[in-house]
Formats: sequence, structure tokens, C-alpha cells
Amino acid sequence: MRDILPRERAIWRVAEKAAAEVARSFGYEEMVTPVIEHADLIERVGEDTDAVAKELYRFDDRGGRNLALRPEATAGVVRAYFEGGLSQGPQPSRLYLIGPMFRYDRPQKGRYRQFFQFNVEAIGVGSAALDAEVIELAAGWLHGVGLGELRMELNSIGDAKCRPAYLERLQAYYRPFKSQLHGDCQLRLESNPLRLLDCKVAQCQPFKIGAPRITDHLCEECSAAWAEVQVLVDAAGIEYQLNPHLVRGLDYYTRTVFEWTTDALGSQSTVCAGGRYDGLVAQLGGADTPGVGWAMGQERIVMLLQKQNLELPKDRPQIYLVLVGEQVEIPGFRLAEQLRDAWPGLAVQINLGGGSFKTQFKRADKSGAEFALVLGDDEAGRGVVAVKALRRDSAQEECPVAQISERIGLLLGLKGGSGSSHG
Ligand SMILES: [Zn+2]
Ligand SMILES: [Zn+2]
Repeated sequence: MRDILPRERAIWRVAEKAAAEVARSFGYEEMVTPVIEHADLIERVGEDTDAVAKELYRFDDRGGRNLALRPEATAGVVRAYFEGGLSQGPQPSRLYLIGPMFRYDRPQKGRYRQFFQFNVEAIGVGSAALDAEVIELAAGWLHGVGLGELRMELNSIGDAKCRPAYLERLQAYYRPFKSQLHGDCQLRLESNPLRLLDCKVAQCQPFKIGAPRITDHLCEECSAAWAEVQVLVDAAGIEYQLNPHLVRGLDYYTRTVFEWTTDALGSQSTVCAGGRYDGLVAQLGGADTPGVGWAMGQERIVMLLQKQNLELPKDRPQIYLVLVGEQVEIPGFRLAEQLRDAWPGLAVQINLGGGSFKTQFKRADKSGAEFALVLGDDEAGRGVVAVKALRRDSAQEECPVAQISERIGLLLGLKGGSGSSHG
């Protein structure tokens, strides 16, 4: 696991702010679920995926319960959807969640056991229009953070009605080549043939091209949904490519699947992946409930943003308070409080830990502040404070403490705070 220090955190905040804004603009509400769930809840949804079978971060707690740090958000969100009564409210429940996820894999460069995701889930309605909506939301977010050029891939993987027959076709197609496939794929041919299509191993690639496409073998309902998604995504002006090899290995995924990938981070990597999961809730033991959603990897987004040399909002104080003297701490704290009260949002940093005028001015300059306010015993005694501009050329001035809020408001061009009404 890794720390995110303030300098990097500023980039994360850009991404999170854009996420919250775009989610709200589509009527999605934020929720938070615990990072710990019962391991069996997580295992019920993903026995097949690497993330769960091999990499689940599980442990027994002191009460002997078998728990897991969540590897993804959907299981917890769906649990909360029922436990919290959202299933009784207006449908669909439009939800988003930003937070850490966990996996327990072998440590390797650039992979961490704690990673962050932005998740969107729309639960309770099976309409393909909702698929288009969450896709549009993801595109809107990527656009909002300046990654609008990323391309999306789209596919449908049918449902319980049409997929079994397609899988038989797929197996029939692949069987003659079985010995030429790589080891895992030879097993997949019988256990999970859909995954043959997203194998990345070179020796398996030649066989994909001739494989039957599931979108040619959809039932009537899936076919209509597939057409509707494309029409709506087209209408939203979102560019995408149809990728017949884009699949999910778990049975509860139905119909629409989509992904945004990038080559900008070295090897091709997925930035966002999502799809419809109409069978998931039943798998968790609930009543049949449709849902669709996606997960976006925050680390990858941040890495892409770092490549762009964004102009980041700086976390720097506007005022740095220089305190030199025996009796200046109490008036200094009061002065800072007076300014913060007068101008909500004004960032005032107090020099703590002493130091000469020279040392403190150096710190003031390094802090990035616009102005240094200087309070020595002499100023404190006379009820004034010295004001020194740090970023522009102007003489130091002196201001009565009673009028400092107003003066600072004027110097910084602040509007609307109570400092402007001091007269
Ligand atoms: Zn393979
Ligand atoms: Zn179907």
C-alpha cells in the first residue's frame, strides 16, 4: 500500500471533484460502504475472477468471522441497496462511490494492494437506456478531466436465454484447435469458453478472428437492447469501436459490456470497465434485480493526468503571519481568527516554532503566500500589524488591527465576506 502525499493528492482532488460534479449532473448520489465485508458475500459474486479467487484480501477477525477487504464495490453496494431500503424507493437507484479497494497479490512494481476506484451503479431497471446513461456519465467524466480522447469499446454478451447456444457454437469452433491453445485456454474451452475471446497470449490470437460473434446470435430481446444502446450512445456523440472479443467471464453479466483503454501508460491498460449485471443480485441470494455499472481506476486516471501537466489549484496560504516577540502568540492567533471569520475560505498560516524575522520571511516566501502580516511586540503594543506584499513590489505598510480584515479584503480583491462591511 502506498501513501498519497499532498502534492499528488491535489491531482486526485481534480479527478474526484470532476467525478462528483458529473455524477450529480446525471442525478447520481454518493454513498459509502465499509471497506470490510463478509468474505462469503464477496466470494458469491466472483469465484471465477482472479481478483477474488486468488487475490482476495481475507482474514479472520478477533470474533472468528471470516472477512475480506473489498476487491470491488458492486457487491457491497448491492447489499446496501437491500439493507438500506433503496430497493423500496424510486427505481433505478442511481449511486456512485469513490474509495479504496484491495487485493492480496504478489507485490510487484506499480501494483498496490490498496487501490482506488470511482464506481457508478444504477440498480433496479433493466432498460438498455440506462446502459447508455452510465456510459455517457463515464464519457462525461473522462471529458471533464481532460481525457476525452480515450476510446471506448462496446459489446453485448447476451443473456441466459441466448448465451448457452452461442457458447456451444464457440466451443464447436475452438475444439479442433484445442491443442494449439495455451494451457489456461485449453481449460477454458470446457469451463468458461467466453474467456477464450479475451485471452492476451500470442499463440491464441490467430483463432479469434474466425470465431463466431455473439452479437450475431442474440435473442430478440438482447438484440433490441443491443441496438438501443448503440443508437443512444451514438446520439450522445460518444465514439466507440465494436469489439466482439470484449467479454466478462461470470454468468451474472448480461448484455452490454464496455471498456475504455489507453496505450499511454506503456502496455495497453484498462481505465474503465463496466457492464450490465442482471444476474448478480440473484447470485447474492436476493430477488431478481437488474443493474448496470462501471469501475474506473483512479491511479491510472491520475497517471494520465500527471502526463498532461495540468494547471493544479495550489494549496497555499494567502496570508502568512510572521510572529516575533514575547507577547505575540495570543494576539497573533486572534488576528488569524479575525481574518478567517471575516473571509470564509481565506487561508491564513501562522508561523509556529519561532525564528528570526529573516527566517520567518523566508518561510513566508516559500509558503507561496501573497502577503506576510508581521506582528512583533512593538506592533502588538500599538494595536497595529505590518503588511508586506510577497509577490509584488510595494512598500511595507502598517494597518490598525481593527481594520486589517477590510484592508486584506481590498488587497486580495475578496468579495462578499463580512470584512467588506467594516466600513
Ligand atoms: Zn489463450
Ligand atoms: Zn438474449
